[in-house]
Amino acid sequence: MKALPDFDMVLFGGTGDLAMRKLLPALYQQVKAGTVSPGSRILAAARKPLSREAFLELAEATCKPFLGAAYDADTWRAFAERVSYFPMDVQNPGSYAPLGEALGQHSDRVRVFYYSTSPDFFATISANLGGAGLISARSRVVVEKPLGHDLDSSREINDAVGEHFAERQIFRIDHYLGKEPVQNLLALRFGNVLFEPLWRREWVQDVQITVAEQLGVEGRGDFYEGTGALRDMLQNHLLQLLCIVAMEPPISSDPDAVRDEKLKVLRSLKPFTPADVVTKTVRGQYKTGAVGSKPVVAYAEEPGVASGSRTETFVAVKAEIDTWRWAGVPFFLRTGKRMAEKLAEIVINFRQVPHPIFGEATHGGRANRLIIRMQPDESMRLYLVAKQPGDAMALHPVNLNLDFAESFRDRRLEAYERLLMDAIRGKLTLFVRRDEQEAAWHWVEPILDSWAANEDRPKTYTAGSWGPAASSALLSRDGLAWNEED
Ligand code: NAD
Repeated sequence: MKALPDFDMVLFGGTGDLAMRKLLPALYQQVKAGTVSPGSRILAAARKPLSREAFLELAEATCKPFLGAAYDADTWRAFAERVSYFPMDVQNPGSYAPLGEALGQHSDRVRVFYYSTSPDFFATISANLGGAGLISARSRVVVEKPLGHDLDSSREINDAVGEHFAERQIFRIDHYLGKEPVQNLLALRFGNVLFEPLWRREWVQDVQITVAEQLGVEGRGDFYEGTGALRDMLQNHLLQLLCIVAMEPPISSDPDAVRDEKLKVLRSLKPFTPADVVTKTVRGQYKTGAVGSKPVVAYAEEPGVASGSRTETFVAVKAEIDTWRWAGVPFFLRTGKRMAEKLAEIVINFRQVPHPIFGEATHGGRANRLIIRMQPDESMRLYLVAKQPGDAMALHPVNLNLDFAESFRDRRLEAYERLLMDAIRGKLTLFVRRDEQEAAWHWVEPILDSWAANEDRPKTYTAGSWGPAASSALLSRDGLAWNEED
């Protein structure tokens, strides 16, 4: 791997869950890989009044399980040498002085501010950094989701951050874009001639994008109450995945060339009328059930959840893209908590052969299908029918593994690791531009509005299932079925 330029990374929220589970481990991995120069620095900032030593002790104990076999004491020492800790209240402009002093020692190097705090602070942190004169020409800011809860609030945050950082300095992270199979989908589509001619309405029957979690709200019912599955997952992650599948070939891999094409997809999504919301969306809420044979309580009984809550823990949507390439091809998106499996995948169902000369039965099943899986494992498989060895002409579905794991034995990068490196290198391709984010909000808002205006409650589903029955009906009306039901 190529060395990174010298950098200072300021991690606001340095003691938080995201920093400990993903960000610090990602930076450790890069130290281990030898890409981080000895002079580069990680400046963690958070509210806890800890000494540097106490922070490092906490970080080592917390990160170790997430590093697994990658942890070794020598690398940790080398990593820790680059880390300092700044106890501060990000809302208090006076508490930025020590940080400013440290940053001032290397005013010309790449400076990445990572906002791993509640988005309520994003405007304040930006103003305080600006006020303290800490935003240099080589500064970048990485912002975490959720950026607002609707179009207006996302604009407000973007305006506030945009007062201090230019758009080319703002890295809106969507970690699904950093996942290896998503990158590989781009390679498959735009690095080969084989797929592109088939990648259109004539040959694609439907597309299914699923991000299913087994976890519930994990004690954060109060946060989730104001969010729900549509805002938390569909508006950002699932729509970004849809863009990667549906976008036209960009003219280059230049960040804006790619993001222009994604934006076009978002702008071609057919708008929802209130009647469409009834027939083309399903919202669900889990009730008591069992996940992996462990009994779990209903969402309504989780701490912090309001009685009679209408917050959706599941959403399924039939999206349509009004372009020559995709007219009439349904894109089914679904995401939920307390589902049967932890699963994130994109399924492209190609049409069946027009005239089955080997008999109907041999052509059904799992053939003519491309599955890009991001969780629980990362893979990309193309399902075809092939002849079973023997004297009879018996066909059988087989799959080609397009991940070539055997050919490439390099360590796979975690999504956050790749994206952090991209932010340090200033590569914006895998980050979401403001207009994309606003187009996504624009498309989902009529769904939110209709749900709010409608007296209906979300359909219930048993925890540990694939969601409400209405989710299956959404596809069966088109004579289709979700991948696991097919
Ligand atoms: P967290 O609650 O675990 O951590 C919050 C951090 O912010 C802590 O370090 C805390 O000290 C710091 N903080 C809070 N108030 C502060 C103040 N006034 N001054 C200085 N520091 C202060 O949150 P988290 O789960 O790590 O999430 C951080 C951000 O990342 C949020 O925007 C969240 O929505 C987003 N996010 C988190 C995850 C995840 O897996 N945890 C995933 C995606 C997005």
